[in-house]
Amino acid sequence: MNKTALIYSEQYLKHNAGKFHPERPERLSETIKYLKESGLMDKLGLTEPHAASLEDVERVHTPHYVEMIRYYSNGGGYRITEDTYVSKTTFEIALLAAGGVITAGDVVLEGSYDNSYALVRPPGHHAKASEAAGFCYFNNVAVAVRFLQHKYKLKKIMIFDWDIHTADGTMSIFWRDPTVLNISIHQNPRTIYPGTGFIKQLGEGPGEGYTVNIPVCSGSGDKDYKYIIEEFVTPLAESYKPELIIISSGMDSHKNDPLGSINLTEKGYSVMSELFMELADRLCEGRIFVESEGGYDLDALSKSTYEVLKSLLGEPSGYVIGGELMEETRKLVLELADSFSRYHKI
Ligand SMILES: [Zn+2]
Repeated sequence: MNKTALIYSEQYLKHNAGKFHPERPERLSETIKYLKESGLMDKLGLTEPHAASLEDVERVHTPHYVEMIRYYSNGGGYRITEDTYVSKTTFEIALLAAGGVITAGDVVLEGSYDNSYALVRPPGHHAKASEAAGFCYFNNVAVAVRFLQHKYKLKKIMIFDWDIHTADGTMSIFWRDPTVLNISIHQNPRTIYPGTGFIKQLGEGPGEGYTVNIPVCSGSGDKDYKYIIEEFVTPLAESYKPELIIISSGMDSHKNDPLGSINLTEKGYSVMSELFMELADRLCEGRIFVESEGGYDLDALSKSTYEVLKSLLGEPSGYVIGGELMEETRKLVLELADSFSRYHKI
């Protein structure tokens, strides 16, 4: 069995964007309850995160933007966009979320754990260098990447984001950067927020070919995701040879999630985790960690998180993925291979 760290703090429940906001504290408290009741929690190394420092977040965000979030928080609150609010505790807790993802990477790279899961909120993948959006303030995964590059001199990190929404913040931060192979699989953005994340958006300058958008059609399920990972993402990763794999884990691609129309099940999340663990074993001595993004159906979120953690522990699921492969999925893989064979040996 693997030694797996769960990075979590009850402080994460303190950020509150309003009673009716989908990104609410119960997302994490219910997940923790489920992990405890199922007995899985006893097998995990529960680890308290440290807050990210200003130096950490300013490797990604402009000092002016960081100061703005602090100012709004200290002032008692502010509505930045239609759905993204800063409350009194947001600055402090957003720093702790970024710090949680740093901690998840740190315990794996220093070797105290085989792998890890940062169960944090607020999420981060829509946040840009100087812009909050989509419930996100600091881009947690990008802050962690810059920290780990700085501390461990890593030259190639792969991010795979399976949240239903495009990781547009992460994409903008690494747009011109070949040291990060940044892959986002998401519902076709013509039909869902944030409206970007098409195959042709593949980075620029030295980063051209290192941003990878995989827009799947509504109704795609476990079988489609498995096919895309095996037929396209795996050869792409083999060509890139990352030193570390990070999963940006959004559970809003679950079929029961209220925000979208992708049909993954918790079994699909389990099988995807196993595929990435195999890949990490082959390519980077098993170095992999997971950090949380969206997921708004509490039951789906809890069960999917449980399954991913079980995979990280190395407990074989034995799941066989059922269902039909959509015809669009085959076409999508052909189109992706055609677009990226110019940049990678796939
Ligand atoms: Zn999402």
